[in-house]
Amino acid sequence: MESVHEPDKRAWISNPVSVKRSYERWCESLFENETENVTGSKMLQKLVLLLQLPDHVVKTLETECGPKSLICEGEVHAQSEKVTEIPEEVELMTLRIQKGELEKRRSDVNYKKYVYDRLKVQDYPERVCLGGVTNSQSKKTSSKVKLGILSDVLLTVQIFRPVQNVSNQKYRGVESLLVDQEVAVLGRQKLIQLRDSIGCVSDIAVPGDFSENPNFPPELRAEDLYKSGFFYINGVFYSDMRNTENRDYSSQIRAWAKETVEKIGPFTSKKMEDCQFMDLDLRLGYPYVYVHQGFCEHLIVFSDLRLCHPDDSQDICDYPMYLRTPRKQRIICMVCHIKTSRWVTFGNKRVPEDPFFFCENCFFKYNYTADGKKIGDFQAHLYFDRTAIF
Ligand SMILES: [Zn+2]
Ligand SMILES: [Zn+2]
Repeated sequence: MESVHEPDKRAWISNPVSVKRSYERWCESLFENETENVTGSKMLQKLVLLLQLPDHVVKTLETECGPKSLICEGEVHAQSEKVTEIPEEVELMTLRIQKGELEKRRSDVNYKKYVYDRLKVQDYPERVCLGGVTNSQSKKTSSKVKLGILSDVLLTVQIFRPVQNVSNQKYRGVESLLVDQEVAVLGRQKLIQLRDSIGCVSDIAVPGDFSENPNFPPELRAEDLYKSGFFYINGVFYSDMRNTENRDYSSQIRAWAKETVEKIGPFTSKKMEDCQFMDLDLRLGYPYVYVHQGFCEHLIVFSDLRLCHPDDSQDICDYPMYLRTPRKQRIICMVCHIKTSRWVTFGNKRVPEDPFFFCENCFFKYNYTADGKKIGDFQAHLYFDRTAIF
């Protein structure tokens, strides 16, 4: 594939890196052995050796180059303690409301996430240090399995929204590549854990035309019927074969690659459930692929690889950790322009657009008579808005 993508001409794509070798090299550089907990003065000594800088320069690095150095004296930073500390004796209505608001954010993790997701500036500290809304915070019963500090690597994976390959010139260029989700995974985790954390409406869709019987659509979702999927990473197809009925989607691609004249091989295949991220060789910034539901293709990009540090969550149950979830832009009903779409019709000659999106109420009122008879000829599919899955 290198001859197609030409990664050497793209500055944002790294050379191939082995996750395991990087981990071992970093550990060797920082620690005498992997399990040693290096803090304080010992860490300073290591840094002096590593950076080859004078002792006093390394000591001042943190104060002079840390995030706090970016805040000027007297500046009220949005997340600083100055904003969150409210004096007791003040009775101003605005401060009382603010106090209640801050209390609500502290006590309700979901509300806090809701608020911060809508901030214009989204790099609030929890996001940066990966300690924001974690799985363990939302699942209070999770068992705490502690990581040793810095005993693993952390990979940041960007999952892009699938883009329809439209041949019609009219629509070409309308859809752009968007990062839909960003997830942090540990080197010790398996690829299936990333797969299970990816949310896509293709998985929860209920396939089929229900225009003749819209009141009783089946409850079986696409993910219950079609469980196959694969990641393509650096010349290897990792197929999910946990279910005995799963298909290896890559077999046809590999057969085609052998016959095609373009140099895009050789490819190999492995089972997704057998591979850890630590086993991977990959290029950071390179567009790899995740395919599921037969044709739903997501580009995936490994954007960062680093050692875990003490500010990361030390609870293994927090990983895979969502760093970014989809923007909450829903498809609204094209009749009332208020409610979220629940149905989509195709070939409906009584509406100006094809496909046409309806909310539950408008769908039945517009397309069926009072006694439930279908008006006109069209196909109706259940529509699941992507805002409903996060
Ligand atoms: Zn998908
Ligand atoms: Zn409506």
